[in-house]
Amino acid sequence: MKFKMKKCKECGEYTLKEVCPRCNKKAGVIFPARYSPQDKYGKYRRILKKQQLEKQYTANRLSYP
Ligand SMILES: [Zn+2]
Repeated sequence: MKFKMKKCKECGEYTLKEVCPRCNKKAGVIFPARYSPQDKYGKYRRILKKQQLEKQYTANRLSYP
């Protein structure tokens, strides 16, 4: 089973329909995060990964005083 999940840009409601059931605005398709045809967001992904690693590092330091 595969649904084309959509998300309303106005209220954040998830729906399978074209239009948001809550506010009747057009809902947009959610694309898989890892799908990137030109990898033009690779730079941002690396920054995010770095931030995550730094957060983990900080969390580990906090848990081992
Ligand atoms: Zn909505």
